[in-house]
Amino acid sequence: MSGPAPPSEFWEEVLDRLSAFYRRGDWRTPYLRDHAENPFQVLIGTILSQRTRDANTDVASARLFARFPDAGSLARAPTDQVEPLIRATGFYRAKSRVVRECARAILERFGGEVPRSYDALVSLPGVGPKTANCVLVFGYAIPAIPVDTHVHRIANRLGVLRTRTPAETEEGLRAILDRRYWIPLNPLLVQHGQNLCRPLRPRCPECPIAGLCATGRALREGRRPPRPEDRPCGRASAGGRGARGGRARRSPRGAPTRPSTRSPQRSRRTRGRPAPRRRAGSS
Ligand code: SF4
Repeated sequence: MSGPAPPSEFWEEVLDRLSAFYRRGDWRTPYLRDHAENPFQVLIGTILSQRTRDANTDVASARLFARFPDAGSLARAPTDQVEPLIRATGFYRAKSRVVRECARAILERFGGEVPRSYDALVSLPGVGPKTANCVLVFGYAIPAIPVDTHVHRIANRLGVLRTRTPAETEEGLRAILDRRYWIPLNPLLVQHGQNLCRPLRPRCPECPIAGLCATGRALREGRRPPRPEDRPCGRASAGGRGARGGRARRSPRGAPTRPSTRSPQRSRRTRGRPAPRRRAGSS
C-alpha cells in the first residue's frame, strides 16, 4: 500500500506550511480552544453533507438547527417540517428519515447525548466511519482521522500511500501517522483540496508543499506524476509536453497565481474549524 512511512519531520513540515499558507494559526494549539462544536450538530451536519456541496450543507444545517437544535427536538420533528429545511442538500427525503432516526436512537439509547466512542457512533443510523471520525474530532477533540475525498486524494498525491478507497486511506494513515497529527490533518487537507489540490487541475506550481509532494516533485522534474489521475493542471497524459515530459505550465485557462488567501473557499468546515458537514461522499 505504501513505501517507508515518512518521518515526523515530513508531517510537521506539511502541517506548518499549510497552516501558514491558509493563515490558520499554529496547528499545535489544542483544537477545542478555537474549534469546539456541538457534537450533535457535527453528526447531523455530516450526514446532510453526503453527496452535496459544502455550501448546500451550510444552508440546510443553519435552517435545520435553528428549528431543531438537539436530539430531542429533531427526534420529534414531523417529516413535513424537516424536509423543506434540508431540501438544498438533495436526497432530502432519505436524509430527513435518516437524521430523525439517528436523533431518536441518540435519545433512546444514549439519553440524548451523542456518544464519544467510535463503535457506539457507527451503531447509529446513517453513521459511517467518516461521520463517526468527524464527531470525535470536531465535536470532542478526540484524535481520529476523518477521511473524505480530499484527504484520500491528497494523501495519494503526496505519495505517502497508494490506496484505492477512503477506508484504505484511513487505515493507512492510522498506521503511519503519529496521533498528534491526526486532528489537524483533516482541516488542513480539506482546505487545501478545496483551493489548490483540487480533484481536477491541481495547481502544483503554486502549492506550498510541492517540494514535499511526489506529484509536485515529478512535475517539477519533468517526470510523470505517480498516478494518472494526478496529472497536474489537467493536462493530457498522451502526447505533447504534458505531465509526461514537460515542465510545469500554467493552465491554458489562466488560473490565478495563488488561491485567494484573503477569502479562500471556506465552508463551515474550514472556517475556524472545518465544519460539520463536510462532507461530500458517503460516510
Ligand atoms: S504539489 Fe500538486 S498534487 Fe501535490 S499537494 Fe500540491 S497541489 Fe496537490
